[in-house]
Amino acid sequence: MTKRHTNEKTLDNIIHIAVPLSVRRSFDYLSSHKFLLPEIGARVKVPFGKNELIGIVLDRFKKSDVPKEKLKNILLIIDDKPIIARELLETLIWCSNYYHHPIGEVIKHALPSHIRKGKPAEPIIDVAWNITDLGKQSINKIRKNARNQIKAMNLFLMNDNVTDELIKNNNLAKKTINNLYEKKFIDKKILTHKKKITKIEEILPKLTFDQKNVINKIKSEKRSFNAFLLKGVTSSGKTEVYLRLIEEEIKKNKQSLLLVPEIGLTPQLISRLTNRFGKVLSIMHSGLSEMERYKSWLNACSSKSKVIVGTRSAIFAPLPELGLIIIDEEHDLSYKQQEGFRYSARDIAIFRAKKVNAKVILGSATPSFESLHNSNIGKYKLLNMPKRIGKAGKPKVMIIDQNKHASNNILSTPLVLAMQKHLKRNNQILLFLNRRGYAPILFCKECKKTEGCIRCDSNMTIHKSKEILICHHCGQNKRLNTICNKCNSNRIILGSGTQRVTEDLVNIFPKTRIIRLDRDSISKKGKIIEILEKIESGYAQIIVGTQMLTKGHDFPNLTMVGILNTDQGILGTDFRSNERLAQTLVQVSGRAGRRDIPGEVYIQTHFPEHPLISSLMNDNYEEFERESLARRRESRWPPFNYMIIFRAKSFDKHKLFSFLEKISKISKEKNLKVRILGPAPAMIERRFNKFHAQLLFQSEKRNLLHILIKELISEIEKFKKNGQIQWNIDVDPLEL
Ligand code: ADP
Ligand code: ZN
Ligand code: ZN
Repeated sequence: MTKRHTNEKTLDNIIHIAVPLSVRRSFDYLSSHKFLLPEIGARVKVPFGKNELIGIVLDRFKKSDVPKEKLKNILLIIDDKPIIARELLETLIWCSNYYHHPIGEVIKHALPSHIRKGKPAEPIIDVAWNITDLGKQSINKIRKNARNQIKAMNLFLMNDNVTDELIKNNNLAKKTINNLYEKKFIDKKILTHKKKITKIEEILPKLTFDQKNVINKIKSEKRSFNAFLLKGVTSSGKTEVYLRLIEEEIKKNKQSLLLVPEIGLTPQLISRLTNRFGKVLSIMHSGLSEMERYKSWLNACSSKSKVIVGTRSAIFAPLPELGLIIIDEEHDLSYKQQEGFRYSARDIAIFRAKKVNAKVILGSATPSFESLHNSNIGKYKLLNMPKRIGKAGKPKVMIIDQNKHASNNILSTPLVLAMQKHLKRNNQILLFLNRRGYAPILFCKECKKTEGCIRCDSNMTIHKSKEILICHHCGQNKRLNTICNKCNSNRIILGSGTQRVTEDLVNIFPKTRIIRLDRDSISKKGKIIEILEKIESGYAQIIVGTQMLTKGHDFPNLTMVGILNTDQGILGTDFRSNERLAQTLVQVSGRAGRRDIPGEVYIQTHFPEHPLISSLMNDNYEEFERESLARRRESRWPPFNYMIIFRAKSFDKHKLFSFLEKISKISKEKNLKVRILGPAPAMIERRFNKFHAQLLFQSEKRNLLHILIKELISEIEKFKKNGQIQWNIDVDPLEL
């Protein structure tokens, strides 16, 4: 424990503490023990109003703005060592400033709830209990009314190596067990940590020329670069590069963090990782139980785990020996949190890695345009892997002009013919459609009305199997009734979702095994693994799916990809819509021909002449990238300009807009070189009965934007409290 024997005058005994509340400040307390100061980054218990809270020490000072006699004392120092290392704490404080989010909430994101509630931050020791000879002899001497003790003794009599879990499952209290232990009726032994892994001796593939080249370049870089952009086409073997780099770090006793878009969707990757790094691997994602999350955190914190694989929030994992951060599919939207604390895990990774001189690898076949720009200006070092591993080469892209075919059919004739060809050769086909459910629109021809959600500005999607309509924005559902309740005529179903396409396919290819992969089809636990297994084993012949299918899967027998509703992206309004469509098309296409049989990609569209389509046709995605960046530069979109969106919502539309008008007015009065656009309604204005609107701030100078937002927030905090408007800051927004 830290003891500082100094006289009181020089003591830094004013303690800045972040409490887990949505307040944009820290609070000062006095250290209750005169000579014992809590460490920065340690947990402390403090009085707060009528409550007690567990906070984190941010800093220690000699002085406070609050008069000393008004300061309260810290009640308890929970940790004698920091549980948030200096490097991570500084990252969190930076996040709070950069994303304009309350520090207490930022810290909350970084800690598992057990830690926030004060549980030990030391690794948990697994123990096994066994009955002693004394215990066996004494079992009859236990008082009859000590029922729990008798129950426990019977458990120990019948089982060897009883775990705490078994004790808990038998509803026996810790107290009972400790009691028996003190009487020496039972004994405990500490279990060394053994994970159940059936290690399959994996024969490591011989690296390709490109893989070797990339690995050597990264290894030999002498600290002048922290970040590498690994641009490797789909199936170029990026994952193997990651694994070899992680191995290098393990050899140096360093930790690696591997971020992936969605863990549930990549069981292949997880099993590969478990095979290679089983004993030193931890997994972190939102699907874990509190206990699992706590254990992963402890293992990372104690450096027992050398490899941490996780989703977005794992960027806040404690990593005392951090050597490497890898962000797979770095362009993926899931790295940006889209509500509350709207952080970008990718950007935080760069910040964090710089602090400790760790390396960052951003990997993708279709990097974000922001990262491309950063590599162009030399912030990131670009590494290329232009060749695919198998003999198949790049898939051939073909366009189906839907203007020439019956427009009401989502499966055009040329597409069906091509499918027949691939099925005949016993290969697999993937059909991509970015819409789940049966159909998006239920329409009455007489009333000219669609069935909308009562809470949102949106149509309800038909889910035929369950005979319901669901709003995909608020989750509201109701029974499907095709009869119009106004005019009693039969309504028609317009458009197609994955379910309807599957139904159509069953009619066209009745003997074919068809599998659907979307959020609905994997809602039951374990379902995703079952589906992926059916695809990998070749059981499924046609796979219909959404965006989920784009996420780095490696399906060996797939030779044809069909893209059904391309035009949704072409017609999108956001400046990023076209770019995203292009990325998706390249990613989905990349699922075809991953081994030795060349793949074919069919794109259905009403806009065959669109530049995006033609550049993909001509295998010229790079040209598309260059043109998109040029377009962004011309229009002063990011990354050539900075953006912050001030988002607000309320049940009261009028109040919402006058609130935003007021913010806009204050902003304009500041006279900073910042462009202010709006207030404008959000893309879908009413969601869950609330109106959403926003102000867009744009500037060439990032710091001007931040100064303005800081000042705005402090002004808003002075407004009369009104709970009717909720607002939120979105720095570097990905959606407008
Ligand atoms: P990417 O992540 O770039 O899409 P993957 O890492 O999934 O590509 O690799 C594609 C396939 O090639 C995988 O099945 C992988 O096991 C295999 N592979 C990777 N590297 C090699 C190699 N050096 N030799 C042979 N096969 C490899
Ligand atoms: Zn009607
Ligand atoms: Zn709704």
